[in-house]
Amino acid sequence: MGSDRPRLVISGQWHPPGSSRAEAARFTSADGVATAKGAEGGETLAEGAVSGLSVSNRVGRIPRRITFADGSVFETDDNDAIDRWLKAHRGWRVGFVHGLERFHPRLILLVAVVAVLCVGLYRYALPIAVEVAVAVTPPAAPRLMGQSALASLDQTVLAPSQLEGQRRQAITSDFRTLAELTPGGADAFDLQFRRGGVIGPNAFALPDGTIVLTDELVRLARDEDAVLGVLAHEIGHVVHKHSLRRLYRAAGITTLIMFIGGDIGSGMEEVLVQGAGLMTLSYSRDQESEADRYSVELMAKAGREPAGLARLFDVLRENYGDDDRNDFFSTHPTTPDRIEDIRRHAAEVGAR
Ligand SMILES: [Zn+2]
Repeated sequence: MGSDRPRLVISGQWHPPGSSRAEAARFTSADGVATAKGAEGGETLAEGAVSGLSVSNRVGRIPRRITFADGSVFETDDNDAIDRWLKAHRGWRVGFVHGLERFHPRLILLVAVVAVLCVGLYRYALPIAVEVAVAVTPPAAPRLMGQSALASLDQTVLAPSQLEGQRRQAITSDFRTLAELTPGGADAFDLQFRRGGVIGPNAFALPDGTIVLTDELVRLARDEDAVLGVLAHEIGHVVHKHSLRRLYRAAGITTLIMFIGGDIGSGMEEVLVQGAGLMTLSYSRDQESEADRYSVELMAKAGREPAGLARLFDVLRENYGDDDRNDFFSTHPTTPDRIEDIRRHAAEVGAR
């Protein structure tokens, strides 16, 4: 079979088995037998049945490799000649064609593995990058973010507090008692009173430990434990660095990689620019429950009503129902489930 097919000669280089040494060589194939011969002396360097060869796929202009059964390799950049040779022999060397097809399941497996890795990256890379970024954030950064966010809020929605000085002092003193019990101590926090205006009864924390409490919330609460429960909840957000995390999450993977990769200048700039938009980002449900639990435990530790936070939520619901026009509602959904969770946890803590 095939003896009438045209004899083929392809120029290239031959490498002995397992060696990078190269010799100028010519590849010929006739009657189902392939031979690599020295380009000058014509001595046989490697020989074998074509069905025992493996031929690399065409990838751009990368030289093709024909591997002999003995492991030696003939390499050529004459891709077209190889393609012509493969085409001329297609069909009559079943074993050889199988050799090519055997590659496909591996290719499919490779594609599947890459697809799984991509999904994994989307799912896990961002949370990991967020954690790394939080860990490498210099303390000056949250300070800058907090200051710029408060400054822009003061220029827009917030107004100076009109709360009686005595009431403010009492709350500040109790707040410090709570903050004293955190790992960073009371000086890690700064309680600021403001009139909320459009944001109404509200409290929120900035990444540097600044906690803003609105007059409206203080007036709405029936007792001080309700106010302190909210403040303890905000302390929880600070202690767990929730706002830094949500900010980094919003900044996205590219910025974070820049930031972690040491290009702190531009990475940080991006993050700081977004610092003003801090208030438009909301906490995740998990972060909220974490802060709720923190509030319950901190209040218990301070000898206060552990479910103080739930009391505030009760009042909010009485006054606003499920209306989420109140901003504290939109960031702190006061569902019955949530209030129940707080009370259940408070009972557990109280029983210890
Ligand atoms: Zn919260």
